[in-house]
Amino acid sequence: ADAAEDRGVRAYLHVNAEEALAVAAEVDAIRAAGGAEAEALHPLAGVPVAIKDNIVTVGQPTTAASRMLDGWMSPYDATVIDRIRAARLPILGKTNMDEFAMGGSTEYSAFGVTRNPWDLDRVPGGSGGGSAAAVAAFLAPFALGSDTGGSIREPAAFTGTVGVKPTYGAVSRFGVIAMASSLDQVGPAARTVADAAALQQVIAGHDERDSTSLPEEPADLGAAAARGNLSGLRIGVIADLREDGYHPGVKAAFDADVAALREAGAEIVEVSCPHFHAALGAYYLIMPSEVSSNLARFDGVRYGNRVVPAGGGTIEQVMGATRAAGFGPEVKRRIILGTYALSAGYYDAYYGSAQKVRTLVQQDFAAAFEQVDVLLSPTAPGTAFALGEQTKDPVTMYLNDYATIPANLAGVPGISVPGGLVDGLPYGLQFTAPAREDARLYEVGAAVE
Ligand code: GLN
Repeated sequence: ADAAEDRGVRAYLHVNAEEALAVAAEVDAIRAAGGAEAEALHPLAGVPVAIKDNIVTVGQPTTAASRMLDGWMSPYDATVIDRIRAARLPILGKTNMDEFAMGGSTEYSAFGVTRNPWDLDRVPGGSGGGSAAAVAAFLAPFALGSDTGGSIREPAAFTGTVGVKPTYGAVSRFGVIAMASSLDQVGPAARTVADAAALQQVIAGHDERDSTSLPEEPADLGAAAARGNLSGLRIGVIADLREDGYHPGVKAAFDADVAALREAGAEIVEVSCPHFHAALGAYYLIMPSEVSSNLARFDGVRYGNRVVPAGGGTIEQVMGATRAAGFGPEVKRRIILGTYALSAGYYDAYYGSAQKVRTLVQQDFAAAFEQVDVLLSPTAPGTAFALGEQTKDPVTMYLNDYATIPANLAGVPGISVPGGLVDGLPYGLQFTAPAREDARLYEVGAAVE
């Protein structure tokens, strides 16, 4: 899409028009010919999809929005791409993101910012701002994202769309450029809950190439979305996720939405998850620790655009120059943080303590799900903020993930559905469910959207 078609949003890093049109034409031809092949077509065949640029895709660049991988062409497809191709969904292009999925606004892309279609002076959220903005601006019917600490759900909240982080292991991570492997999960961004369910159904299921892939086949998510039921449902409102730091407008809109859910037949129960307040701190130790290890491969020798210092240099100098030039400041910050947290003498104090908090967060979820079917909170503490507003201080940006991170630490699924408008901007409602109960989220989400 040229700038005019993109309406100033700049959701895409690469548009794949020719190949997408060719796949669509193939599907049309099969449908027109009729017969067994036409009948065997997947119901979504011909419906195009946009892909976050950290998912490797043959035939177009995969950069993770980093100079380190500028122009890189993957020799193989991610498993989710295999499944999308098998169902004949044309791949529209690769969407912008924060570099290596680190960020909450898409401003840390090495290739320029994506803007929020609701207000072009505001961010679309991140790190998957390109996928969410493409969907919100009708530049794609749905898209894939990745969620390590909220990168599908927060952009959904900021753009008035639907975003789902599936259960850890429900969707293959093979071919997804790793950020923090114990937290990363691929999922759908869409305009409706039914669309998100349909896309997750295409990509989900066991993959022997991912050792953390769950063995079982997914439930019928489309049927769950079609049921869209709230009556008799016990919804736990997480008291701990409504307190300090929340935009007063979001708090008020949330309380009104909870009242409406009660009216609609749900039973509302106040629950406490007393360790959630510590989840953010634990995440910002565990995630950078894994980042520092996962990004070690980008050294200009094994992976990444090699930079040779003027006049040549030793292999170490080449690696140093490659990483100095290839990574942006936020990526470097996290590599340094993680390397420090894992270093001898600090490991127990930082990484070890964070893992203990992770267990406590998992126990909070387990205790809560003994009382209720799903948990509810706002997706993010605020609405889309102005470009440049939160890049001065990294911790301000990290606070956006307050409500989304617990689900990643525990591996449970989460959905963000539009909750309404606050001062003219969308805000999101987040539901979480026990692991493997993704279908329950689609059933609830469809009744709420
Ligand atoms: N905003 C979070 C971070 O910067 C989430 C990242 C993600 O989910 N990929 O780490």
